[in-house]
Amino acid sequence: MKAAVLHEVNKPLVIEDVSLPKPGPREVLIRTSVAGLCHSDLHFMEGLYPHPLPAVLGHESAGVVHVVTCLSVFCGTCDNCTTGRPVLCTDTSVKMLPGVSNRLSWARSEKLNQFLNLSSFAEQMLVHENAIVKIRKDMPLELAALIGCGVITGYGAVVNTAKVAPGETVVVIGCGGVGMAAINGAQIAGAGRVIAVDTNPAKLQLATKLGATDIVDPRNGDVVQQVRDLTNGGVHHSFEVLGRKETAEQAFAMLAPGGTATIVGMIPFGQKIELHGFDFLRERKMQGSSMGSNHFRVDMPRLVEFYMRGKLHLEDWISAKLKLSEINEGFAAMKAGKTVRSVIVFDA
Ligand code: NAD
Ligand code: ZN
Repeated sequence: MKAAVLHEVNKPLVIEDVSLPKPGPREVLIRTSVAGLCHSDLHFMEGLYPHPLPAVLGHESAGVVHVVTCLSVFCGTCDNCTTGRPVLCTDTSVKMLPGVSNRLSWARSEKLNQFLNLSSFAEQMLVHENAIVKIRKDMPLELAALIGCGVITGYGAVVNTAKVAPGETVVVIGCGGVGMAAINGAQIAGAGRVIAVDTNPAKLQLATKLGATDIVDPRNGDVVQQVRDLTNGGVHHSFEVLGRKETAEQAFAMLAPGGTATIVGMIPFGQKIELHGFDFLRERKMQGSSMGSNHFRVDMPRLVEFYMRGKLHLEDWISAKLKLSEINEGFAAMKAGKTVRSVIVFDA
């Protein structure tokens, strides 16, 4: 089968012939139908995060039998799984660390690495049964794939991690695929003001359609001041959905006393962020969110229902449908900030 292989950081992906073994116990072989391009893949391609190479990237996908995949594979029996936090599963025989999985192989002698126990940029995926959830047959897989990372991450950060309450004010910094899902999630959660921050006017326009009540363009001046002016002194919840030091610091600085900043973006590995210690005296908080603190077997079918009932506007954030051979063009468009989400549609 064909797969897009990252041989070296900052080099284009190369389409190679690779293979998978027959499924072992508790494994499922899936024909990949659709794979979304997520900025997290790009962070690894640019070497801002380490991963053993060569590897087949991709982690936002849907395939046949009609399922959505999730990198939050869980064992179901460790302390974190049994206390309701499967996203923090500690069983590394199921949630294998980078460089451990031996599922992918090819004609070369060098090991080919699976990415996040999935590797969606390939015509087939061999995954643990706890890395997938079955969804209703009438859900289009193109849209379902988006739920696999971007949607669950943005929506879950708002609903599961931060637990935004009706009427609370929300800011989302960075309105790509994940940020749009946070905005749509804030609307579903009943947030009061929802302020979208992005440097691309087209993204801000779409954010308004998804539920943003106000928009802020950083090119019009200090973002923190603009948000403070809009909210009479600060917000209850801010979400950093970009992965940068400056924007993470902005997210904290724009909080009202008692507010919480949730960092969703992947800040380059090793990079530190700086906060004013004084701000903690007014009970401001900063927290991380992994894959929207999901319980994906429950959350993803609910997101499908939200889509079916017209509450989750998934069509709006597919910017381009690509072939596997066009994957590098897709990442170039992401780097240029042009797309909300591009998806690879594999041949049926
Ligand atoms: P994306 O590239 O699609 O979107 C980023 C957006 O930020 C773009 O719309 C761009 O115009 C905007 N932007 C650029 N500069 C800006 C600035 N100074 N201020 C405000 N906006 C600006 O990215 P994505 O795929 O939505 O991913 C967003 C982040 O979330 C990435 O860092 C990704 O790795 C991370 N992520 C984290 C998790 C998790 O579990 N925590 C899961 C998935 C993705
Ligand atoms: Zn992702």
